[in-house]
Amino acid sequence: MIATDSTISLVSFYINGGWERPESGASGKVTNPATGALVAEVPYAGEAEIDRAVQAAHDAFLKWREVPVVDRVQVLYRYKAILEKHAGELAAILTRENGKTADDSRAEVRRAIQMVEVACGMPSLMMGDSLNDVAQGIDCKTVRQPIGVCAGITPFNFPAMVPMWMWPFAIACGNTFVLKPSEKVPLTPTYAIQLMHQAGLPPGVLNLVHGAKAAVDALKAVSFVGSTPVAKYIYATAAAQGKRVQALGGAKNHLIVMPDADMSKTVEAIIGSAFGAAGERCLAGSVLVPVGDAAGPLLDLLVARTKTLAVGDGSETGVEMGPLVTADHHKRVAGYVEKGVAEGAVPLVDGRQRPAPVDGYFLGPTIFDHVTQEMTIAREEIFGPVLSVMRVKTLDEAIELVNRSPFGNATSIFTTSGKAAREYSSRCEVGMVGINVGVAAPMAFFPFAGWKQSFFGDLHAHGKDAVAFYTEQKVIMSRWF
Ligand code: NAD
Repeated sequence: MIATDSTISLVSFYINGGWERPESGASGKVTNPATGALVAEVPYAGEAEIDRAVQAAHDAFLKWREVPVVDRVQVLYRYKAILEKHAGELAAILTRENGKTADDSRAEVRRAIQMVEVACGMPSLMMGDSLNDVAQGIDCKTVRQPIGVCAGITPFNFPAMVPMWMWPFAIACGNTFVLKPSEKVPLTPTYAIQLMHQAGLPPGVLNLVHGAKAAVDALKAVSFVGSTPVAKYIYATAAAQGKRVQALGGAKNHLIVMPDADMSKTVEAIIGSAFGAAGERCLAGSVLVPVGDAAGPLLDLLVARTKTLAVGDGSETGVEMGPLVTADHHKRVAGYVEKGVAEGAVPLVDGRQRPAPVDGYFLGPTIFDHVTQEMTIAREEIFGPVLSVMRVKTLDEAIELVNRSPFGNATSIFTTSGKAAREYSSRCEVGMVGINVGVAAPMAFFPFAGWKQSFFGDLHAHGKDAVAFYTEQKVIMSRWF
């Protein structure tokens, strides 16, 4: 729950259907990235609170798994209606603590609602197969059963949508859930769960703790979304304890532009991909790869458009790009820009020179040309509005470049040639591919995840994969004497 003390929001845990805020213990501060103003205080859960959340989820599971799936999804239908009513407030909270523009926040909330809509279809999604007379007088069927207490650990960049990749699917399948969202943006997921409380969920089915990093023995499945080093750690630790785990990690996404592309539409798509949400997206294009003669016309148009991009407080109308999420993250991204210059990349647009409000964590969009493979900005995830241009001569060279990357989250190709698009989408070692689409974000009814160092696990997020992840399959053979 979010209470207010003068102007600051006080965030609580949600355990066993009740809200609680510890009097003492560790806590963190949340600032508005556009102004630097303190907006919330968030308590960090200790082992005792996590244990209680898991115990509550465990106890609730014993009853919740027995509730027919058609009744379980009724809660989600009610939640969908409540979310629609409060979507504007949720989006405003998101902009206030994350910094993304009002349009981006509304779009994210829409995506979150779509997750709930798809999870409402669980009676059909959970259906198994059956075949009579697999042998003389013997029938066979598969059923999907919930697995138990599941946990979700989520990043700062999509605090409304990413938790919804997880818990609506998990609880619709009959599991119970403990969510630990990013401590940088606790207000959005807390408000979303406050709304779920209104929908009438039984106590303990969904629980929320903040801050803590511990994953505990009673958990049966862990869903993680965040950076690659933490994703690897979560995957290794959880898998070693026999838990089911899906860990979505970081990215370095390449945008390939063929000489035959429609340059003006391509430029708009690149702007959205590289600088939308200030580049704080796992699907953001961060390496632009013009093929052959594409570079000249593409970069002329792109540089001109980038210079006109409206940067400012995301809550103001007409703003196209907001600030970075925290002062620390701003320092980190600005450090990459300095490193790019020091390592010899050519800045076509230098975001540090863009005038911006002094109190917020603003950094203008940056484009570096003549970036080479050895440079740090070509290899590491920056997670900010910094686009590196790596020129190549042929599509084969572009494919080699992309496939050498340790990451494989998303990529796009811009072309009017079906042959080039088909060849690229089939040969690239990447999980999500856009063809003339700058942000290849799968909808709620398709699976979402990358390849290589961008994903550790087998079953992807949302879509049918979520149903498989949050259930155990059983085969039942029957004969009646
Ligand atoms: P992060 O890895 O710092 O934190 C993610 C979550 O993990 C937070 O809730 C954090 O509190 C928690 N955490 C941190 N260390 C932990 C530990 N040792 N054990 C358990 N939990 C721990 O990531 P972030 O900075 O919040 O988000 C940005 C990153 O997320 C980027 O790398 C981005 O690419 C990635 N991301 C990936 C996807 C995807 O679908 N692949 C989607 C969104 C974001």
